[in-house]
Amino acid sequence: HLFASARFKLSSDSMQVYLAQPRGFCAGVQRAIDIVEGALEKFGAPIYVRHEIIHNRFVVDQLKAKGVVFVDEIDDIPDGSITIFSAHGVSDKVENEASERELPVIDATCPLVKKVHRQVAKFEKLGCEIVLIGHRGHPEVEGTAGRSKSSVHIVTNSAEVEQLEIQNPEKVAYVTQTTLSVDDAQKTIDALRSKFPAIKSPSTDDICFASQNRQQAVRELAQHVDLVLVIGAANSSNSNRLVEIGRKAGVPSFLIETPEQIDVELLGTAERVGLTAGASVPEELIEIVIERLQNLRQLEVISAQGVEENIQFKLPATLLNASQKVEFPVASST
Ligand code: SF4
Repeated sequence: HLFASARFKLSSDSMQVYLAQPRGFCAGVQRAIDIVEGALEKFGAPIYVRHEIIHNRFVVDQLKAKGVVFVDEIDDIPDGSITIFSAHGVSDKVENEASERELPVIDATCPLVKKVHRQVAKFEKLGCEIVLIGHRGHPEVEGTAGRSKSSVHIVTNSAEVEQLEIQNPEKVAYVTQTTLSVDDAQKTIDALRSKFPAIKSPSTDDICFASQNRQQAVRELAQHVDLVLVIGAANSSNSNRLVEIGRKAGVPSFLIETPEQIDVELLGTAERVGLTAGASVPEELIEIVIERLQNLRQLEVISAQGVEENIQFKLPATLLNASQKVEFPVASST
């Protein structure tokens, strides 16, 4: 059965909240946070992180309070300071800037983003022009595009494929952002294949397991509820995809960044609400949202059955080994 474990009693003015499984933190985000926490413990504050380690204000603010400084550019980091690259990954240019400044770097790029970076390098070696399916301006897309020495074509949807011009259609390959909607990405890939039949594809799907699992969970959830709430940041790609999936299923779906955004008006007459959270949202925040809902209505919280994720990524050797000094470059251990 899809749902189990009611935790609260139902009454006449009550609302059922169906919790998606899986939801919230993924293995890559957990690893990135563990790296920052581990670096704080081993080296002490301040620790510099290029870009928000993950797209979640709650987590970022907690880390700031512990002495983590978030910066936009490598130039903003003082000489000799411990530097962490965020889970989204960085371009060659950023890596080189850090290297030239001899900054001690710990790389928190998700191993699944690294895998896409390696795929870009492989296609480049084969002399292919590279098409990256993703959202312009997202740090992961900037990092992945910046792994190629030549310019990468970024396309977001099949309409953009029509405008795409490739010098040699026999020498073209695509990769994707890890957090895309599986269905939308497939449409774009189909459009690419029909325009460039010789296009090479990645050896395994670039859309990560965590995005796929969370999307599938919302797809199923949407069939049982009259409102979907997705906890996540406005700039979080995977969270926005979850909202889109709810809407495509014909259910009003909203992205909420803070519990305060939930009010009586938003809930309307909904009796069954589906609740999920993007890959950068801690369970703690989900619990705060449930408390908020409890203040507004009497709740019955029901956990959906779904995929149990047991994937854990290893931490970099620098943090695992107490005596090892941090050096540049610190190879990712996964
Ligand atoms: Fe890695 Fe996927 Fe999580 Fe991104 S969403 S950090 S690619 S596991």
